Amino acid sequence: MSITDRVKQARDRIAAACARVSRSVADVHIVAVSKTQPASAVSEAVVAGVEAIGENRVQEAAGKRPLVEGATPWHLVGTLQRNKVKEALDLFDLIETVDRAELADRLQLQLRPTTRVLPVFLEVNIGAEAQKGGVVPEGLVALAEHVVSHCPELQIAGLMTVPPYDPDPERSRPYFAALRELADRLARHLGLPTLELSMGMSEDFEVAIEEGATWVRLGRILFGERRPPI
Ligand SMILES: *Cc1c(COP(=O)(O)O)cnc(C)c1O
Repeated sequence: MSITDRVKQARDRIAAACARVSRSVADVHIVAVSKTQPASAVSEAVVAGVEAIGENRVQEAAGKRPLVEGATPWHLVGTLQRNKVKEALDLFDLIETVDRAELADRLQLQLRPTTRVLPVFLEVNIGAEAQKGGVVPEGLVALAEHVVSHCPELQIAGLMTVPPYDPDPERSRPYFAALRELADRLARHLGLPTLELSMGMSEDFEVAIEEGATWVRLGRILFGERRPPI
């Protein structure tokens, strides 16, 4: 099946999930996560109309983005090291993985001499798993307050999470519901507009949509199995 057909199929499943909870399909966007896939596959996804391309490594995006035409924005969905901040800003339109004040400060420092405002998602380690990226739920308000008061060139546009791995998507549901709850409370607390929710991947995006996802990050169901690392 072509990538175009796979995107269509994903849209149908998104529409069905939206219908189950009376949400509008216009509120759910696809980030096509193209790690290990060649630039030609990314280009096909762009032509098929996905709303964003997602990569989790700066180095890999650097090799691909120049080969992909079109105005589709690119999202960084993997951990960002401080020494890659400058390069990441050249390659990505939105960073979904801001999870510590020190990283926000680094981004701010690089952005300050420009007039650019960078939309970011704060990544939440919703299961508070050891060794996993993301701020633990208890630390979210402090991180958000830091960004609001010290990083004027960063705009908190949403929250992102990867719940603890479980082959049964129903077991991810409480984590998705918890992220939504956190987002609602944070937006009220800081007086922010409604926050985007980046949650759900190939195995569990329908459940994530039922719980309020506005961005689903889809890799394998659009591109097929991952290739050996580039
Ligand atoms: C790889 C990846 C995805 C996509 O995963 P699939 O299971 O292939 O859909 C989504 N989010 C992040 C952060 C990823 O690294």
